[in-house]
Amino acid sequence: MSAAASGLFAASLRLPSPVEPLKDDRLRAAGVDVWLKRDDLIHPDVPGNKWRKLKYNLAEAARAGQTTLLTFGGAYSNHIRATAAAGRYCGFSAIGIIRGEEHLPLNPSLSFAVDHGMRLSYINRADYRHKGDAEIIGSLRQQFGEFYLIPEGGSNDLGVRGCAEIPAEIAMDFDTICCACGTGATLAGVAADLHDSQRALGFSVLKGGEFLERDVAEMQQAAFGRQSANWRIEHRFHFGGFARRNAELDNFIADFAARHCLALDWVYVAKMMFGIYSLARQGAFSPGSRVIAVITGRQAPS
Ligand SMILES: *Cc1c(COP(=O)(O)O)cnc(C)c1O
Repeated sequence: MSAAASGLFAASLRLPSPVEPLKDDRLRAAGVDVWLKRDDLIHPDVPGNKWRKLKYNLAEAARAGQTTLLTFGGAYSNHIRATAAAGRYCGFSAIGIIRGEEHLPLNPSLSFAVDHGMRLSYINRADYRHKGDAEIIGSLRQQFGEFYLIPEGGSNDLGVRGCAEIPAEIAMDFDTICCACGTGATLAGVAADLHDSQRALGFSVLKGGEFLERDVAEMQQAAFGRQSANWRIEHRFHFGGFARRNAELDNFIADFAARHCLALDWVYVAKMMFGIYSLARQGAFSPGSRVIAVITGRQAPS
């Protein structure tokens, strides 16, 4: 990594990200005040929690003298895009190991990655499931030489620590901080740095994501050597599972965009926001609650 390149890149990041009130009659009627933590604005190519999770991984790669990053993702992965861009801007070479077979022409996410210098390689779904095993990592080292390994989603202990920096950037008092959960790394980090009176609430975007509770606890243990009991996960707002959508969600997104001039990412952020409105309507937040919704990313251009 070139120190000059990464310094310039760091200076271009919008940090701390803005906190904006969400003015909405339906929330006001429910007695809930919501603010948006606009992590989607951190950087156009490396938005949201993808930057939070890369930050300490890139620093560690540089400290270890590594010049090449290798990471994993699906063909539509936001993490692959973000790693390609951040790698390029910070002077690393990058390799993306993509689940499944190559489809040409490349979709917008993968062509973005290639345009930013990432070398792509594909592994079959069975091997992908075992991508953390020594055998697979060993064969990747034989193929590509030395690299700094970033796990899928950037969700290792360093990634969790980067996400733990979100709450301290919020100057105002709040009661609950919400985020969408894919791997749960963002929730694990956010919940680790709250005041005693504050709670974190995750919204799983996975069907059958009940393993997330254990994963989040384990990620907290790995990153901080302790677990916090101040968080929980909602499993009722996945809309059929990962990258699934329906008319109700699409209508919600269109209505939200019309009211607030903000296009919610439908894979993650829209499901959390729909969940917040539903819980508010059901009276799940006590009257006068101050809720932060972390906008963890933006809709990848397609
Ligand atoms: C990747 C991603 C997530 C998932 O975060 P986890 O830390 O894996 O739970 C949430 N929101 C957006 C916009 C993302 O791109």
